[in-house]
Amino acid sequence: MRPLQFGRTTVERIVEVETMWFDPEWLYPNMTNEVLARNADWLGPRLFDATARKIPLSFHSYLIRTPHLNILVDTCNGNHKVRTPKVAWQDRLASDAYLRNLAAAGLRPEDIHIVMCTHLHTDHVGWNTYLKDGRWVPTFPNARYLMAREEYEYFSRLFATRPDYPVAHGSFEDSVLPVVQAGLHELVDMHHVVEGHLDDGVWMEPAPGHTPGHVTIHVKGGGQEAIMSGDIIHHPILLAEPGLQMYADFDAEMGKRTRMRLIERCADTSTLLLSAHFPAPTAGHVCSCGDAFRFKFLSD
Ligand SMILES: [Zn+2]
Repeated sequence: MRPLQFGRTTVERIVEVETMWFDPEWLYPNMTNEVLARNADWLGPRLFDATARKIPLSFHSYLIRTPHLNILVDTCNGNHKVRTPKVAWQDRLASDAYLRNLAAAGLRPEDIHIVMCTHLHTDHVGWNTYLKDGRWVPTFPNARYLMAREEYEYFSRLFATRPDYPVAHGSFEDSVLPVVQAGLHELVDMHHVVEGHLDDGVWMEPAPGHTPGHVTIHVKGGGQEAIMSGDIIHHPILLAEPGLQMYADFDAEMGKRTRMRLIERCADTSTLLLSAHFPAPTAGHVCSCGDAFRFKFLSD
């Protein structure tokens, strides 16, 4: 994905894991061979490996550069994090790719002013912290870490009631609480404006369902808009198959309503949809197609 331009603001992708392949049923428990077969043509090999019967996810952040701020949206899985067997593929990763790719964009961790997480699941908060001398410390020491108040309070309550249970597979304790203990967090309203104002700048909007305080991050400038949709949609097949259930949704019905609202808002407009998990080239548009929708990637 080339850096995208929104007036004087740019958005680019900082990759942690370019592509990881998953069983479709792991993500969507009610997936069937019929659903895969009727979508195989438009998905193509980039979005569905028919031989291995796997679908791909990417893990990346978005870097928003305004004239004043360097903002990271979502911080992927992180290194050395001990994870539960349910997410064994995240367990104790040890790769320099993420910080190397940030450096290739010309930035050190110290240069990040704001970290925004669409939600507090483990694959969106991992690089919030890193291991230093046996302790988890904030990776971005000069950043304010913005979290929707509803989201933080929900996970905080879980942690308080069951301190022995690995909340969010352990990530609340090793990737969120150390930021709070360092005083770098800021609990914000789900309509929080980071720069400019609503409808022109960088702001959050509520998008609950996948988690109680999930937000989308919006960038608009120079007449162009993008929506960073976090985990509202993990894979483009959902545009054509809205009946697929998402395994990790906190409230499946609410998640579906939020997803359809987002899809209908983007459909047949110039608004770019930037998912947290679509593989390269990642950015693209939603187009209507009969009574369903398709995703059309921007060319590389
Ligand atoms: Zn995710």
